[in-house]
Amino acid sequence: MGGSLTLFRIAGIEVRMHWSFLLIILYGAFIFGAGGGNMVIGALYGVLVILLLFVCVTLHEFGHALVAKRFGVNTPYITLLPIGGVASLERMPDNPTQEFLIAIAGPTVNFIIALILAPVTLAVAALQSGPAAAMDMHIFTQALYNAQTPSLVNLLGYLVMLNLLLGLFNLLPAFPMDGGRILRSLLAIWMSYVQATRVAVFVGQVMAALFVVWGIFGGNFFLLLIAFFIYFGGGGELAGVESRAVLKNVPVHRALRPNAVSLYVSEHIDRAVDLAMHSHQSNYPVMDLGGNFVGVLTHSRLVHGLREGGPNARVVDYMIPVDQIPVCRPDDDLADVWEKMSASTSRVMAVMDWSRFLGLLSADDITEMIHVMGAAINRSHRQNAGRPGAGGPTSTDDATTDAKV
Ligand SMILES: [Zn+2]
Repeated sequence: MGGSLTLFRIAGIEVRMHWSFLLIILYGAFIFGAGGGNMVIGALYGVLVILLLFVCVTLHEFGHALVAKRFGVNTPYITLLPIGGVASLERMPDNPTQEFLIAIAGPTVNFIIALILAPVTLAVAALQSGPAAAMDMHIFTQALYNAQTPSLVNLLGYLVMLNLLLGLFNLLPAFPMDGGRILRSLLAIWMSYVQATRVAVFVGQVMAALFVVWGIFGGNFFLLLIAFFIYFGGGGELAGVESRAVLKNVPVHRALRPNAVSLYVSEHIDRAVDLAMHSHQSNYPVMDLGGNFVGVLTHSRLVHGLREGGPNARVVDYMIPVDQIPVCRPDDDLADVWEKMSASTSRVMAVMDWSRFLGLLSADDITEMIHVMGAAINRSHRQNAGRPGAGGPTSTDDATTDAKV
């Protein structure tokens, strides 16, 4: 996500603000400024309320990040967006208990804030309008209705209500929101991790559809944005979980092409074009005359070389040099390598057994593998599920995922 400004860094976590965050500040200024009182004071008060609300959102995200840290998962950054915050965890632990605790930590922070601010609100009210106010719970509902009227009691009461609502809203089972993650971790007690994710994503997409209806009829634009985020975020995570389940425990060397062709530094682009026409290989390792691996001519580099230098351009001038190619080992787990590759810009990795070059691993090869092996696994599920007395999907998934705890 581009266009973010770093605000500060605490405990190794960078807090960033996306540029679109300015829109919510303007929105706050506009809504509160139009509240009927003094426009300037109203607008400034609105900005203050929005900023304090996002302090609470940031604390919510820190709740996730600090619990994740206890399980050895770092959070490089937290990004503040108009629809809320996003804690970008390095990875989501596939241990359901850990996911449960990480997910519930966020809403818990909001409930704790509400619990701390509620007595403070009542105490301030009592100081201002006598001891009877200390028992008057209507202060909180009034704070919601009179949110646009600047006063300390209103501000505190409004923050109490906002934190309660934030906590409750995030607990809705709309994967990948917190409640959806909690749902998945609970489902994973009874079914495989992949199956639990499928159910949670399905429930989340139903919730997203409800948010769309709610957003349209309630005139709430943010709910539409949130529905969009849930719909695509959930689908993306499901794809990730499914491919991870397929690739787990498969060593890298199994994805190597058995008869991959290499190029030599002295060769010209036209030879690569010739090879590309007659094979499905799209990346070519480049070797020097001594047989050492020196670079990769990817499909895009080939096209670029052909356009710029023509068929007689030298391979060596257009290849990606070896020092820019990420490396993995033949017995590395494909699931981990795929995760690294997805997070980086490089679409190809060199498989090295110490100094010996074994071949290239490309993103296309892995995607192909996910499709083929995924189809095979789904087929065996259907067969087992249909067989009387078989344990159904839960028992067969254990072959590919060891996520159940
Ligand atoms: Zn959260």
